[in-house]
Amino acid sequence: MPSSVLPPRAETAELLGRLAGGERLQPETARRLWHEAHDADWQALAGAVRARFHCPHDCTYLIMRIINYTNVCVAQCDYCAFYKLPGEPGGYVLDREAVFAKIDDLLARGGDLAGFNGGFNPHLPLDYYCRLFASIRERYGERLEFYALTVAEFLYLADRARLSLDDAAVRLRDAGVRWVTGGGAEILTEDFRARHSRFKYRVADFFDAQRALLAAGLKTTATMVIGFDESLEERIEHLERVRQFQDETGGLASFLCWSYKPYNTVLGGSEIAAEEYLRHLALCRAYLDNIPRLRTSVLTQNERALEGLAWGADDFDLPLEDEVTELAGARIDTDLERLLQRARALGFTPRYRHVAAAAAPAN
Ligand code: SF4
Repeated sequence: MPSSVLPPRAETAELLGRLAGGERLQPETARRLWHEAHDADWQALAGAVRARFHCPHDCTYLIMRIINYTNVCVAQCDYCAFYKLPGEPGGYVLDREAVFAKIDDLLARGGDLAGFNGGFNPHLPLDYYCRLFASIRERYGERLEFYALTVAEFLYLADRARLSLDDAAVRLRDAGVRWVTGGGAEILTEDFRARHSRFKYRVADFFDAQRALLAAGLKTTATMVIGFDESLEERIEHLERVRQFQDETGGLASFLCWSYKPYNTVLGGSEIAAEEYLRHLALCRAYLDNIPRLRTSVLTQNERALEGLAWGADDFDLPLEDEVTELAGARIDTDLERLLQRARALGFTPRYRHVAAAAAPAN
């Protein structure tokens, strides 16, 4: 998706000026600017929207780890290198002590956020999750925060438990869960889901689940993954749906976009260039004018992700582990100080965003 022919500067400047001044980016304009605007124009536009929420040189970060508690999954997404079908050799479920050991290691290395992400495992009932999450809350108290599930896993659990989404959300909340993430969204169009993950869920289910989580008082986020075979139209449709949902609920704390890793997957393909990822971040920032926090993905873009701070992002994870993306080709960079130094060299002042402190502001 290259940028190509440039329009007359005066016309583009006038349009960008209106957008930077608060006019909403619409699908047709986004399409046109994607193809026609200079990278510098995208950066300026994203910077103007970013400045509505954050000081220009400020940014925040977290040290976190994804805990992949099970790789057994029945969804069979063709872009996934992580899952094993039930009964297949190599399938696992982590026991509680193994989960605690990963959390202890995270805390020892200065992190305070764990994100749980696993497969749709038909042998794990909702009670398994509730007991696990309650035990984590009891053991770690306010020293740790955790993203309990992705929205995709939540949908599967509720379905397996034959509970309404509202009732399942309440069960999780009563077990001590405070956060779920919008993970498992990939590209939120029906066509994309039919092409690549037809056993996962429909787009409407995803937003129904988000509504139920918010109604139960849980916090949630939105995500996106690019670089499969999705069209520009599909990317913009995804952003439009997320923006509409945020207009309706105001409940999305942040938006994180990462890029597809194609190795060891049925789908295969090749990785998008960092330049395309950065330009897409700017599109996200300009389009999602109602979500305060835009996160750039060190997990999939490594050091190049930090350049995203100049393309509209204001926050990033420094991840210690994520088997899902690592098996598909991601390389975890654990030289955290060097990554932070890179952010500083780009002119930003990274500040640790404590999510676990009892007095931490809403995230
Ligand atoms: S992406 Fe998630 S839901 Fe899809 S196959 Fe992999 S583990 Fe299962």
